Amino acid sequence: MEKKFEELKRRLMEIDDLNSSAAVLSWDQATYMPPGGAAARGRQMATLSSLAQEKFIDLEIGKLLDDLQGYEDGLDYNSNEASLIRKARRDYEKAVKVPAAWVAKFETHAAASYQDWAAARPENDFKRLEDNLKKTLEMSVEFADFFPGYEHIADPLIDNSDEGMKASDIQRVFSELQEELVPLVQAITEQEAVDDNPVKQAYTEDDQLAFGQIVIQDFGYDFERGRQDKTYHPFMTKFSLGDVRITTRVNENDLSEALFSTLHEAGHGMYEQGINPVLEGTPLADGSSSGVHESQSRTWENVVGRSRGFWEHYYPKLQQAFPEQLAQVELEAFYRAINKVSRSLIRTDADEVTYNLHVMIRFDLELQMLEGKLNIEDLPEAWHARYESDLGLRAPSDVDGVLQDVHWYAGTIGGSFQGYTLGNILGALFYESALKANPDIPDEIRHGQFDTLHSWLKENLYMHGAKFTADELIQRVTGGPLRIEPYIAYLKGKYGEIYRL
Ligand code: ZN
Repeated sequence: MEKKFEELKRRLMEIDDLNSSAAVLSWDQATYMPPGGAAARGRQMATLSSLAQEKFIDLEIGKLLDDLQGYEDGLDYNSNEASLIRKARRDYEKAVKVPAAWVAKFETHAAASYQDWAAARPENDFKRLEDNLKKTLEMSVEFADFFPGYEHIADPLIDNSDEGMKASDIQRVFSELQEELVPLVQAITEQEAVDDNPVKQAYTEDDQLAFGQIVIQDFGYDFERGRQDKTYHPFMTKFSLGDVRITTRVNENDLSEALFSTLHEAGHGMYEQGINPVLEGTPLADGSSSGVHESQSRTWENVVGRSRGFWEHYYPKLQQAFPEQLAQVELEAFYRAINKVSRSLIRTDADEVTYNLHVMIRFDLELQMLEGKLNIEDLPEAWHARYESDLGLRAPSDVDGVLQDVHWYAGTIGGSFQGYTLGNILGALFYESALKANPDIPDEIRHGQFDTLHSWLKENLYMHGAKFTADELIQRVTGGPLRIEPYIAYLKGKYGEIYRL
């Protein structure tokens, strides 16, 4: 049996090599590749991923998994071996339902669609992307139909990033959250607006990048096993547990963009860097779900990086780095500026309180498109209409509307956005457990020390990689199911104080 297990592992590692190689190509495409490389790059990535797919759905893997059933039953559920077989089996059962030809076709389409989006977005040219999106929607529906018996057509797509969750689960959580958020946003926006001019000054790129890198090094992001580059839409990617990269973009007239995207992506990166090295090369060397992944980026970006305690330590250093801009600005004014709440048009720039409203709009639009109730031609207007009704704003153009996010232009429609809000909820939930175990964490943060928090997260979350599903992790770490209460308490506590509600 152990021989069969080793054979399964060997095959899975080979597949991981192919996928990791494709990730290098994809990282390069989004950072340094000249535009002329686009067509060939799309093809190259498609070749690698279809090879990986073919190898994975090989009957021999199915046979190994069958043969290993008894062996798995005799193992401890929490062991690396049992978890690997369990995860490989779940992935396999899903993958065999999706034809390799479909995967290759979708990869090629997504790569071309991404290039078109990057070119059409600055031109505010949604029309040019309509055909791409129609094909994306068509293929997203095709994908869902590979999994007949779903409750909602979005379920198989959601399951891809947040395994085990259904559209109806998310709708329930989102509506509970919305009930709390809408009055909170209302109460805040009735107060005098916070002045965010301190962050909206001229800040040189190099100094911004240098400051961000110091902070994430203090967090525990390991530059020996990672690096940071510039891109158009910040992301984290991993080629191995020894090479976990992050990217950012810099706005020289807004300090918050590069800084907070750096803290955010470092959170994703630290999660992957914290995975137990013995899981390297297997399907377990990954995050548990997109929601759990996002919980970590949000924790480091917001719960830590936008807290008063954090800035008590770092603000004098920031003032030193930017004396001209900040010498005259008090800590409190800066703290309020980086936590300004306002109804706005751009999701990635949104504050913690309104952010989820942006996500809910996208989630609902995805469901409507998949249900066939919203045509691609009508998407820009549907977008504007929802922003008007939910946030009271209308974007002057599609650049700040439906063209702002890369997701639908580089992936499927469905399952792309719910992870962000689940992440906010989970971040607060896990952080509550971390504080229960270590009440000194906030004090340490005030001194620029993150070891206790980082170690707790490593031990309870990061180390396990993808051994456990999100539901299992939540249960293990918090002793109960997903709850929104800690997140609501966090928002009300923090913003109630800032806005004196
Ligand atoms: Zn993220």
